Amino acid sequence: MILKRFEALQSFLATPRKIVVVGHRNPDGDAMGSTLALSHYLKKKNHTVHVVVPNEYPSFLHWLPGSKKTYRFDMQNSQSQRVIRESEIIFLLDFNALHRVGSDMQNTLKAYPNDFVLVDHHQQPDEFKYMYSDPSMCSTCEMVYHFIDKLGDTKLIDRDIATCLYTGIMTDTGSFRFRSTTSATHRIIANLIDKGAENDRIHSNVYDSNSYGRLQLLGQSLNNLKALPQYNTAYITLSEDEKSAFNFEKGDTEGVVNYALSLSDVSLAAIFIEDREQQIIKISFRSKGSFSVNQFARDHFDGGGHDNAAGGRSELSLIKTVEKFVDLLPKYQQEIVQSYEK
Ligand code: 5GP
Ligand code: MN
Repeated sequence: MILKRFEALQSFLATPRKIVVVGHRNPDGDAMGSTLALSHYLKKKNHTVHVVVPNEYPSFLHWLPGSKKTYRFDMQNSQSQRVIRESEIIFLLDFNALHRVGSDMQNTLKAYPNDFVLVDHHQQPDEFKYMYSDPSMCSTCEMVYHFIDKLGDTKLIDRDIATCLYTGIMTDTGSFRFRSTTSATHRIIANLIDKGAENDRIHSNVYDSNSYGRLQLLGQSLNNLKALPQYNTAYITLSEDEKSAFNFEKGDTEGVVNYALSLSDVSLAAIFIEDREQQIIKISFRSKGSFSVNQFARDHFDGGGHDNAAGGRSELSLIKTVEKFVDLLPKYQQEIVQSYEK
């Protein structure tokens, strides 16, 4: 755990400030939950706060309290640039390096003359003036809870803050089932329910909001599932044509990789998704046990993340990317096979 210049930050925040809170590109439940929760909290402390996200976030998060007031850097560029320019400090939430916001927004942040505060649970963070980094945490939302607690302000956690934090903890832990979920996580969740988070409604809003097309696309994904039993590995592919056949929308493939990991005896799972707009193949990796997909994604697919959940990209074709992945497996066979024992 790194906690850098916390007291100095505390003094800085003792007077009302103009603050921007930023999440990563393709924001997920943890990115949206943590940025919104922190902004609600900082507003209660009399700061002027704007949340800026690089691009669109999935429709199953649109109901989150405050999400309508966020600025999208790609679509509301001048407003985003203005609040960034006018701000005295920027919080970076749920990512560990500036490039994770995408190149346009990265350029703006690189030119930012004031200081950054990083609050994040990914490994190997870049250096910033103020830092709270803890890769043992299940989610950035859990860290925002601790951050508020460290400032002595858990009494300020209201229904909206609790709802946002609950959502991010729930989505980043696969509904409280991943290894990163601890007894402390459950205690925080209990506190959040006491503060007004309605667990049944949050689960339903996030997980029971599928479009017909999304379920059809899941069907296509499962049809495309390939298992490689000798490597305890399974993967899914989705081409751009398949995505458009089922009216693909942002977020529709979220969680699909977990179906590959749910196969009995599979310790390494991947999904390869063609993205014609960015001209890349976007990859998600998941593992059970000791095999680090963070390291694997860093070493071979220009990515990173956590030990058991990471992402990456490839500029090869879909077929060539899958070939590259399959060709790497013999080298890792032992590590993958020994990764997880029941
Ligand atoms: P997902 O597969 O759900 O997109 O991402 C899994 C985890 O890996 C998340 O924590 C995410 O922030 C991280 N991640 C996803 N894609 C990338 C990437 O291209 N680079 C890095 N460094 N991390 C990524
Ligand atoms: Mn996260």
